[in-house]
Amino acid sequence: MLKPELDDDHPHFSPTYAVARDRFISRARRLGAELERHVHPEARGPAAEPLSIDVAFAGPRDAAGVLVVISATHGVEGFAGSAVQLDLLDRLVQTPPKVGLMLIHGLNPYGFAWIRRTNEDNVDLNRNFVDHDAAAPDDSAYRALHPLLVPARWSGPERDAADNGLMAKVAELGPRAVQEAITCGQYSHPDGLYYGGRAPAWSNRVLRGLIAARLEAVPRVGVIDIHTGLGPAGHGELLFSGEPDGDECRRAQAWWGADEVEIERLGEAISPPLNGEMPTAFDAVPGAVTRITLEYGTAPMLEVMQALRAETWTTARGAIQSAEGQAAKAALRAAFELPDAQWRADVLARGRVVIDKAMAGLAG
Ligand SMILES: [Zn+2]
Repeated sequence: MLKPELDDDHPHFSPTYAVARDRFISRARRLGAELERHVHPEARGPAAEPLSIDVAFAGPRDAAGVLVVISATHGVEGFAGSAVQLDLLDRLVQTPPKVGLMLIHGLNPYGFAWIRRTNEDNVDLNRNFVDHDAAAPDDSAYRALHPLLVPARWSGPERDAADNGLMAKVAELGPRAVQEAITCGQYSHPDGLYYGGRAPAWSNRVLRGLIAARLEAVPRVGVIDIHTGLGPAGHGELLFSGEPDGDECRRAQAWWGADEVEIERLGEAISPPLNGEMPTAFDAVPGAVTRITLEYGTAPMLEVMQALRAETWTTARGAIQSAEGQAAKAALRAAFELPDAQWRADVLARGRVVIDKAMAGLAG
């Protein structure tokens, strides 16, 4: 199952999570980087292999600036993120003076290995970083759409009615409002889309532990979280989710260019503001933090959404081993990673620019 349709020989874009992880480890070792492995306590991969978050540290121990680069917050999106990390390890001779690197490979290894955007509990990790002791964010707009997104049946009149209902909502509310209602993060439907969970996920706890252990005494921290699936194909947009007027925003604009940084809260970005975004975990860093989401476009939004609905439906109904289920997996992967050489080249080239600008910003 999950037979990769892509070129297995590409040095950066790996056919499976397991291959990507092996490549990451061997490149980090070759560079002399320190490695740390966090194995998932229960979940295993398709070949019963352990699933882990692997972290490589390079550069000086007393770095004044550390750049954190994260892949696979959204599982299946990790093929591109891992490729950018492997490319960085390949081309890195040494970090700029006083700058260290912390590469987090496979933050959501379950989704990476099983071709899911979400984790082992269908939790969207990038909606999971809310205060779970407080009341969950209002998701009434999602609730109204849920029966249409994940209908009782995936074919026949019920499916047609659901699709027509969604189209009617888009006509009534506009595409942006419907996008926001679906994607902003919901906390009521564990079998639904963009479900944020009811407790901190394992990956969430591991990340918070890493931040506490490694970034407590670092004066300047940069964070690049790599995603795919939104925006024009191949282009890597820079999404900023923090305060529009703060120091962090000014630093981001200075590092990457004011016209490059899209501010979610000003409605400039391809993504509206979200609940429980992962980068908020870095609020715990005492130093100056500069965070960006590097979002590579793939397919049109409607195509990506249909692929997500189908894969979520088949998984929730336990039909993932069926031919239909496997087709849904293949379509999901194709929606988040384009198998063409130009897209891959664009991803790597853009990744280099974004990373190098961040390292220069941290060094300065
Ligand atoms: Zn994503």
